[in-house]
Amino acid sequence: MGYMCAHCKKEIKVPEKNSTRCPYCGYRVLAKKRSSLAKEVSTK
Ligand SMILES: [Zn+2]
Repeated sequence: MGYMCAHCKKEIKVPEKNSTRCPYCGYRVLAKKRSSLAKEVSTK
């Protein structure tokens, strides 16, 4: 499972255990990739 930056939407594979922040923009809110957004894309 990966994470996605809530700010720049970039994919973050494995954030550091004690510092979950975006390596690209430094934003500290990350969203798990498996979110409600995935349900919207569901084809079933
Ligand atoms: Zn970011």
